[in-house]
Amino acid sequence: MIPLMVPDLPSTDEILPWLRQIDHNHWYSNYGPLCLEFETQLVALLKAQNPRATEDFAMVSTCSGTTALEVGLSAYRLRPGTRVVLPSLTFPATATAIIRSGLIPVLADVDSDSWVLTPEIATGVVAKSGAKVVMPVAAYGQTLDTEAWQKFAAQYDCQVLIDSAGAFPAHTPKPRVDIAYSFHATKSLGIGEGGGLLSIDREYLQTARELTNFGFGKGIINTVGMNAKLSEYHAAVGLCQIERFPQMKSRRRIIYRKLRERLQPLRNALTYQSGLAPNSPTLFVVAVPGSATAVCQALEAQQIGVRQWYCPPLHQHPAFDSYIKNASLKFGDLTVSEQLSDRIIGLPFHLQLNDREMRAITRALTQVLANTTIHFPEPVGANVMSLANK
Ligand SMILES: *Cc1c(COP(=O)(O)O)cnc(C)c1O
Repeated sequence: MIPLMVPDLPSTDEILPWLRQIDHNHWYSNYGPLCLEFETQLVALLKAQNPRATEDFAMVSTCSGTTALEVGLSAYRLRPGTRVVLPSLTFPATATAIIRSGLIPVLADVDSDSWVLTPEIATGVVAKSGAKVVMPVAAYGQTLDTEAWQKFAAQYDCQVLIDSAGAFPAHTPKPRVDIAYSFHATKSLGIGEGGGLLSIDREYLQTARELTNFGFGKGIINTVGMNAKLSEYHAAVGLCQIERFPQMKSRRRIIYRKLRERLQPLRNALTYQSGLAPNSPTLFVVAVPGSATAVCQALEAQQIGVRQWYCPPLHQHPAFDSYIKNASLKFGDLTVSEQLSDRIIGLPFHLQLNDREMRAITRALTQVLANTTIHFPEPVGANVMSLANK
């Protein structure tokens, strides 16, 4: 089997010097020295990776990307029941974070070419729903236009929290644009489990910090929080990963480009996400013509690891039903999310992927697409349309 993903984390030997520091410190959580060092170094790494970003910003670490989203939302201190716009084509944690923060998700569709929620789409939804927060998602690691979102936030007097969980290090915060990253093992800076909330607003970050620690501020609970602290052990792995990151990133980009080149012969059958490519890719996604389920089954039969990411779209999960059945919370239709979710597949992508495996993937996909009876319900995206018109 060619595995879909192989996380790349530091070896025991690489982590050992940091573990010895923990032994020496006898400090294991609650913003210990390694945790604070990880936060400082991560901000420095992000600045180095985004030299054009002028804003100064800081990070509050969390125990997962999902908790970074939750404390990020709670720290806005909005009235319970305030509406938050998010795309239907995303990982469910974007929506669970909203609901668990006492807010109401408003599902919007995505753009058929870039596969993400754009400011253009959000404009109508915010106007109709009266939402105070928009959560764009850097779907599949896509790089979003943070400047466009900054303008959007100013124009519509709302807050933007980017679910950039899978897109490290593509985004840095801007005025009214905050960023959440995940450091889950499968992401581009994986530490096992972890996350970070980034903002230029220190007061907001202080509130978020308290929320990661039950809500404690100077010994008393001001707002109900949770325990979302990053342990010293995870920070130790994080400090190793920061050192390894530039090299990992350049290898990820090389392998990504090679696989794209390998799949060139299939360019008329496959559609790629348009826009800015992932900064440090961890996934390789394509839209196939016709249903991805059949293609995935056929590829798995040929020992190729595949995954239908973000399938089904959020509005088809039973847990989010009630937010859709209440018709006032579905603004416009979610057709593009439905169609894309039915077409997108993740192919094997990781740092161990070699030329022989890339050839095997291309061969299998060529054969599978030739054998799949292609059915076009509605064209999605420019390339699929041209194939449908042949
Ligand atoms: C991975 C991911 C999450 C969840 O992050 P965790 O660290 O696993 O909690 C949320 N949203 C998106 C878009 C993701 O890719």
